[in-house]
Formats: sequence, structure tokens, C-alpha cells
Amino acid sequence: MPDSGSTVRTPLVIGNWKMNPASMDAALELAGGVRAGAEGLTDAIAVVCPPAIWLRAVADSLEGGPVKIGAQTMHAEEGGAFTGEISPLMLTGLAEYVIIGHSERRQYACETDQTVAAKVASAVRHGLRPILALGERADERAAGATEAVIDRQLRIGLSRVDRLGGSRLVIAYEPVWAIGSGEPAFPADAQAVASEIRGTLRELDPDAADEIAILYGGSVTPENAAAFFEQPEIDGALVGGSCLDAGGFGAILQLAARSAH
Ligand code: PEP
Repeated sequence: MPDSGSTVRTPLVIGNWKMNPASMDAALELAGGVRAGAEGLTDAIAVVCPPAIWLRAVADSLEGGPVKIGAQTMHAEEGGAFTGEISPLMLTGLAEYVIIGHSERRQYACETDQTVAAKVASAVRHGLRPILALGERADERAAGATEAVIDRQLRIGLSRVDRLGGSRLVIAYEPVWAIGSGEPAFPADAQAVASEIRGTLRELDPDAADEIAILYGGSVTPENAAAFFEQPEIDGALVGGSCLDAGGFGAILQLAARSAH
């Protein structure tokens, strides 16, 4: 299956399971449902990001199938006195993707633009595909600061990556106010931000900018996903709540495949 790395970006649908489900049996059942929904689909890539403790079991259960594995976070360092953290070395060979800088990590786990930058660069160095999550909070949006916030998070987040070309980076635009709220962004607004992101990527590396998938995330459902996938600069979705239902996630995946642009 073609991966992003050419100017034709294969739509990507990534499920962020967050701190769900509560048991390994339930995690394996969900993974099995996602696999069944992705089987035979060649025009979109499905990725699941289970909690770290279920990564190995889920990865084993998905082996040989089309669904890829991602982690929800990682530490920038390879090892050391970092209680509770996961090293990039531990993910190597287990996960292909890793979400970095999710707004819940920024809010509850003290992640800053600087720590996010270190993690993105570390992920690239270790051959993992970072999904750099960025987005403005409700107060920043109300203050008309969306563009400035995205610009800052993007430039600092990428500042320690030596070369964007070949980094296999993914960007997820996730307005914080849209996450888990049931109030997604207007697709045209998400497209405007995605276009701003693409412009900055072009400035940073004109040759690599078109390789990089830009996703929208924030209350995506099977009902609203198609309107996002129709947008020319949106290459897929990062999905939270709706990904815990394998049928719903599969429906979003089908819509992404149909939209391949
Ligand atoms: C997320 O947490 O990345 C997310 C997009 O969540 P939800 O789909 O529930 O808004």
C-alpha cells in the first residue's frame, strides 16, 4: 500500500483510544473489529493508538493485517530516571506511529512546545512516524489568535527535526475546544488552518511539504467526516470518541477511502 511519501497522500484515519478500554479482552475485541472493517481497503490507512499497556497484545493481534499501530505519547530520551514514561527504543518494532503533543498531554502532563519539539525530533531519529498534534484553545480562538498559535506550535514543534523530507511526519490539527465536545470545527475553517499549515511547511521545506499528511481532529463522527475529507488540504482524521466503536471507525475509514484526492 502506498504510504505518504509521494505527492499523492493516502488518506489516514487514526484512532486515539486514550485511556480505553479498561481490559485487555475489550482492547483485543476492539482491535478485531477495526481489522475486520479495514480488511481489503486499499485507499485509506487505518491506525490504532491503544494505551501503552495493551500495545503488545493489540500489535500481535493485528499482525499481518492492514491496520497499523501507534502509541499515544513517548519520552524524548532513550532511557533514564523517568518514572512511568515510555522510551522511543521501547516503541521501535512495536509501533509505527506516535502521537506527540496531544492537547490532553499539553494540559494534564505539562507538555510544552519545547518538550514536544524534542519528542518529534526523537521520534524521527528513531524511525517512528510522529503525529504532531496542535490546535488553539477556546480562549485563544475567541481572542482571534488561532493563526498565531498554530504558527508557533508548528514552527517550534518542528524546530529540532533536521530534515522534513523523509521524516514521514503527520500533522493533526485539533482545535482544543472541538475535542470531545460534540462541536467540530466548520470544515471550511479546518481547511483554512490546514492550508496555513501547508504554507508554513512549504516555507520550511518546499520539496517535502506535499509529502506530509495533515489531519483534522475534534468530534469527528461517521456523520460529519465526509465534509472534512472533501477539503483539499485535509488528508484524514484523528478520531477519539468515535474510534471506540469499531463500526463507527470503519465507517469513517470507508469515507476516507472514498475521498482519496
Ligand atoms: C482526540 O482526542 O484526538 C479527539 C479528536 O477526540 P474526539 O474525536 O473525541 O473529539
